[in-house]
Amino acid sequence: MGVYEDLGVRTIINASGTLTRLGGSRMSSEVLEAMSEAAASFVHIDELQARAGEVIADLTGAEAGYVTTGAAAGLALGMAACIAGLDVGKMDRLPDTTGLKNEVVVQRGHRNAYDHAIRTAGIRFVEVGYLGYPGAGGTFGWQIDEAINERTAAVACPILDTPGTLTLPEVAEIAHAKGVPVIVDAAAELPPRSNLRRFIAEGADLVTYSGGKAIGGPQASGILAGRADLIASVALQHQDMDVRAVTWNKRELLSQGRVQGVPHQGFGRSMKVGREEVIGLLTALRRYAAGSDQDDAARWSETLNGIARLIGEIDGVQTHMQFNPRRPIPYLILDLDEEKLGFTAYDVVNSLLSGDRPIAIVESRAEFGSLAVNAQGVTDEEAEYLGNRLRDVLSGNN
Ligand SMILES: *Cc1c(COP(=O)(O)O)cnc(C)c1O
Repeated sequence: MGVYEDLGVRTIINASGTLTRLGGSRMSSEVLEAMSEAAASFVHIDELQARAGEVIADLTGAEAGYVTTGAAAGLALGMAACIAGLDVGKMDRLPDTTGLKNEVVVQRGHRNAYDHAIRTAGIRFVEVGYLGYPGAGGTFGWQIDEAINERTAAVACPILDTPGTLTLPEVAEIAHAKGVPVIVDAAAELPPRSNLRRFIAEGADLVTYSGGKAIGGPQASGILAGRADLIASVALQHQDMDVRAVTWNKRELLSQGRVQGVPHQGFGRSMKVGREEVIGLLTALRRYAAGSDQDDAARWSETLNGIARLIGEIDGVQTHMQFNPRRPIPYLILDLDEEKLGFTAYDVVNSLLSGDRPIAIVESRAEFGSLAVNAQGVTDEEAEYLGNRLRDVLSGNN
């Protein structure tokens, strides 16, 4: 009996992309084997993180890197580093930032639900720019410039294509002129693979990616890449620091006078990463980086074409393939004439989710009567079941 079956938990066919609430992505057998091997031995986690950081630095073009429990943890840890630097006293106080640099400048059009992870470090957002673009809306460079002051810990610049917002290179130029770091949420900006290097090249001081989305690593993994001094701060705030000064394997930081004492279980302790996640993430990342956007897109397109053939012609349903120009991921779009069909796109979503073998499809435009199928997490066997089931449900046979 399978582990999920044993618990009475249904497995789901995931045609909705790398959604965290469904488990993110599927790990390859190479990744799973590497994780199981990693779990069988002990290592110094900080030594492992240091080596992992070199691999991440190499693949991103950053000075340094770190494995986190996810992109959200990367934002929280990165923010903690921007606030505390290598000051162990400040690390000890977080997330109480009274009297510390505790403001983060952000464009209004860049506020999003994930910025809670940045606020976790104890900061307050200072919003600039207008909503309501086009018109006189958007952000002006001087607004960011004037919002930066001696309390500014960072400027946050998530990769969102909100119209009217300033781009990362524009934001970085303004922030750097005032000596302030830029922290970038690029959690779901892969593919294209070229984005692994792009944001560091465009001026990010820290950039975070999910390990459990397109990279295909463990769900609870992510990457933080960026400036060496900031990553060093992250490392000091992340580990279980139940060590003594005389035996600490980073005690040279004490003798060099770079830190005033051994940091203790800090801000990042609740986001600890296991050696299995570090090895799983690295294995997945190396495999991902060696792959090809074109090959992936061709494979996904083939899967989607097969599903479209199984759905066939249904009165009231228009199907077509679509690529988002920023992202080489194909979608099979299903536009429903809800009146003619007598049911809504949301009805279809719920029917698919409530079957013997639940299926999740993309519902982000369901309110407009439009659904989509994403093949990133779909096997050939699942694709056949999914195509047949979609044909039945869209034909009104639940
Ligand atoms: C998924 C996502 C996150 C969170 O990433 P995790 O790796 O799940 O922690 C943050 N920001 C954006 C934009 C995301 O899509």
